Amino acid sequence: MIPPQFDYHAPGGLDEALGLLGELDDAKVMSGGQSLLPMMKLRLASPANIIDISRIPGLDTIEERDGCLRIGALVTEAQLDSSPEVAERYPILLDTARVIADPLVRNRATVCGNIAHGDPANDHPATMLALRAHVVATGPGGERTIGIDGFFHGLFMTALGEDEILTELHVPVPSAHSGGAYVKLERKVGDYAVAGVAVQLTLDDDGEVTRAGVGLTNLSFAPIRASAAEDVLTGATLVAQGGFRGAIDRVRDAITRAPDADEVIAAAAQAAADAADPVEDRRGSVEYKRNMARVLTTRAIRTALARAGG
Ligand SMILES: Cc1cc2nc3c(=O)[nH]c(=O)nc-3n(C[C@H](O)[C@H](O)[C@H](O)COP(=O)(O)OP(=O)(O)OC[C@H]3O[C@@H](n4cnc5c(N)ncnc54)[C@H](O)[C@@H]3O)c2cc1C
Repeated sequence: MIPPQFDYHAPGGLDEALGLLGELDDAKVMSGGQSLLPMMKLRLASPANIIDISRIPGLDTIEERDGCLRIGALVTEAQLDSSPEVAERYPILLDTARVIADPLVRNRATVCGNIAHGDPANDHPATMLALRAHVVATGPGGERTIGIDGFFHGLFMTALGEDEILTELHVPVPSAHSGGAYVKLERKVGDYAVAGVAVQLTLDDDGEVTRAGVGLTNLSFAPIRASAAEDVLTGATLVAQGGFRGAIDRVRDAITRAPDADEVIAAAAQAAADAADPVEDRRGSVEYKRNMARVLTTRAIRTALARAGG
C-alpha cells in the first residue's frame, strides 16, 4: 500500500498552483487526498507530480452571496456539517455530508474534491445535480462557470481541463417552500452507496411543484439526473389546499399531502428507477439496485416535501 514515487509541491497561492499545473508534466491537484491517495496506493493512479492546494489561504469559506451558497475549494465535509447557514437552509447538504465515509475522512475530504473526482459512487454529485449547482473552474485564462449538467462526462471524467482547478461550487439559494433530501442505502455505515437519491423540490403557495431536481448515485457509469422523474413531479400538486402548516417540527411532516400525491410520487419513483442503469456487483444485482432506486426516490421525495413545508 505504498504509492509510486512522485514529486510533491505545496504552493502558497492559487496563481502559483495554476503556474505549476501549467508547467509540470503529469501533475494532479490534491485537496484532501481522500480519493487520490487511496487510488495511488492501489496503483490506479500514478501522477509524477502532486500539487497540494490544501495550504492555499482563502479557499475554505462557505458563504451566501448574490443568490448562491458558495462552497470554496477547501471546504471539508466536517465544515459543511457544522455550518449554521447550511443547517438552516440546505438540509440536503447535511444529509449528504453525514453519510460520507467516517469522521476521520470527513475532516479532510473536500466537497469540491468529491465533485472534481467524477466518481459515480460519490455522494455529492447527485445532490449537486438535484440542486442545479454550478462549478467554478479557474485556469490560466481566468474563471469559467460550468452548469452541473455539463460537468460529469463519464467514469472519473469531468469537464475540468487539465490546467484548471475547481475553485468554488455555487448552489442557488432556495426560495420559499423549497425542501430537499438525500437518501442513501449502504451495506454498513461509512460505505459507498448501493444506491443513493437526491431530491430537491420547490412548490408555490398552492402546493404545486414549480421545480424538481432528482439526482442518482452509483446507479450508472456517471452521476445522472432522472429528468423523467422531475417531469412527473413538475406541475403536480403535492400539498392539499391549506396544507402548509408552517415550521412546527422539522422531523415530522409540516404539510398535508394532496389526495393523489402518493400516486404522483410512485410514478416519479418508477421513472427514477427506469432511468437507473446500474451494474451487478458485490452490492447487488441490477434488479435489486433498480428497485432500491424506486424505494429511495419515494423516501427522498416525501422528506423533501415535508421540509418544503418547514
Ligand atoms: C475510507 C473512505 C471512504 C469513503 N467513503 C465515501 C462515501 O461514502 N461517499 C463519498 O462520496 N465519498 C467517499 N469517499 C471519498 C471521498 O470522500 C471523496 O472522494 C473526497 O471527498 C474527495 O475529496 P478530496 O478533497 O479528498 O479529493 P482528493 O483525493 O484530493 O482528489 C480527488 C480527485 O479530484 C481532483 N481534485 C480534488 N480537488 C480538486 C480541485 N479543487 N480542483 C481540481 N481537481 C481536484 C484530484 O486531482 C483527484 O483526481 C471515501 C474515502 C475514503 C478514504
